[in-house]
Amino acid sequence: PAEQQAFDPSKKTLVLLGTGWGSTTVLKNLDTEHFNVVVVSPRNYFLFTPLLPSCTVGTIENRSIMEPVRLLMRHKSREVKFYEAECTDIDADRKELTLVRRTSTEDAAKGSDGPVKISYDYLVVGVGGTVNTFGTPGVEEHACFLKEIGDARKIRRQLMDSIESAAFDNISDAERERLLHMVVVGGGPTGIEYAGELHDFLQDDLSQWYPELAKKIRITLVEALPNVLPAFDKKLIDYTQSTFDENRITILTRTMVKEVKEKSFIVQNPDGSRSDIPYGLLVWATGIKAQPVVNRIRAQFGEVQTNGRGLLVDEYLRVKGARDIWALGDCALSGYAPLAQVASQQGKWLARRLNSVAAQAARENKNDADMFALIEEKSRPFKYSSQGSLAYIGSEKAIADLPFFNRNITAGGVATFWFWKSAYLNELFSLRNSTLVVSDWVKRFFFGRDISRE
Ligand code: FAD
Ligand code: NAD
Repeated sequence: PAEQQAFDPSKKTLVLLGTGWGSTTVLKNLDTEHFNVVVVSPRNYFLFTPLLPSCTVGTIENRSIMEPVRLLMRHKSREVKFYEAECTDIDADRKELTLVRRTSTEDAAKGSDGPVKISYDYLVVGVGGTVNTFGTPGVEEHACFLKEIGDARKIRRQLMDSIESAAFDNISDAERERLLHMVVVGGGPTGIEYAGELHDFLQDDLSQWYPELAKKIRITLVEALPNVLPAFDKKLIDYTQSTFDENRITILTRTMVKEVKEKSFIVQNPDGSRSDIPYGLLVWATGIKAQPVVNRIRAQFGEVQTNGRGLLVDEYLRVKGARDIWALGDCALSGYAPLAQVASQQGKWLARRLNSVAAQAARENKNDADMFALIEEKSRPFKYSSQGSLAYIGSEKAIADLPFFNRNITAGGVATFWFWKSAYLNELFSLRNSTLVVSDWVKRFFFGRDISRE
């Protein structure tokens, strides 16, 4: 790449928090001519979350859906500074952020560097959410989550661990049955897609490598509501339930997990009674809640920021009560669902508005132009345009709920699966990622999934 211009003290500093769907899209679309741009995130890559469930069983390898953020930075006209660190606090009066660098991304207890303070003129908060356990006892200690790449790695390892332990001779039948019981808590799209991938692994690969054990593996999905996928059309819910029946995945609805223990979990059944069910692997996919730093930001604007689920923003994505701070994606309460599509549209919208008001201010030599106010003056509010919902449900079938001329078209089956594959390939951030994902799909077709336990 051409040599990038360095930091310019005459320009304002724009800090982006996070390298997820929202902030990375801002970075991708932002004209760095107008700002000194600083990115802060505990992970130095963007993660294509829609294909994360495929990584839990090796349909796709982890690195195929990770895009180093420095690749994006390299293509900007001016130098972008990156701190691999977590923002833990903010002083909105002094426009200062506190950063802490965890020396191990997997084990927070292993220590940290810092803290370090940095200043901002403008701040974009795109820190996403964190897993919500609803305070259920034992979840943090014993369950696996499915949110970050390390979670997929942990699930893959624990799954193979349970299976290899079950292959050991001198254990009781009851213990073997426990080890081979795979449980998914939460019937939202994350839980459904994971259960679908697990079924495929069992059907395509484990049944070849462990013919006797594979027959004994059970998959159970537990959902507190009367049905799975509450955000999808009724026809697609029925289609998913019948596909799961065919694939012998048990769905327990109106059943709430109350506690997770080391080897079993307690549920409240529909009739109010409680059962203690043994498991070998338990994946907890019950949605998200606010990140700790979001609560720190909220605390600065306590009178206005009264919703514990995230940062209340106005229709220009400005954090209510704050100056010069925007929020987008899962951490922003903008009236839209926590979706990658929403975060990326918000990121694009914000970058383009910033580009245009900053370009105008530069033409008019107004170094101190107030971008926060100008965006409202010069542009229309952000409006989300849904591209529809897609989800993979296993055995090469997907479901789709797509908007079409003010109506919704629903589809489920093998053709939808091919549509799902092509849509995701199209959305992948770079040619590099698309190539890696296609090559993983081809590898799996010819050689099956890898069962080695790392
Ligand atoms: P994220 O993408 O979560 O990014 C947050 C970023 O902030 C990360 O880089 C994180 O490291 C960083 N961060 C966290 N804390 C701090 C801090 N203190 N300081 C600085 N940085 C911080 N949505 C869809 O529309 N379609 C799908 O098919 C789909 N599939 C999904 C599958 C799975 C398994 C999951 C978990 C989610 C899926 N989603 C999907 C939802 C989608 O991933 C989220 O809505 C989206 O990631 C939100 O983007 P974001 O930028 O707000 O947050
Ligand atoms: P979710 O919030 O959509 O679903 C979580 C489910 O867990 C809910 O149905 C809830 O009733 C259930 N639940 C909560 N506590 C429970 C308990 N104790 N016992 C049993 N069930 C319990 O969460 P998600 O699936 O992780 O999705 C998070 C966001 O990401 C959503 O906005 C979703 O649309 C999006 N997403 C989209 C896709 C896709 O479009 N393909 C894929 C994954 C995630």
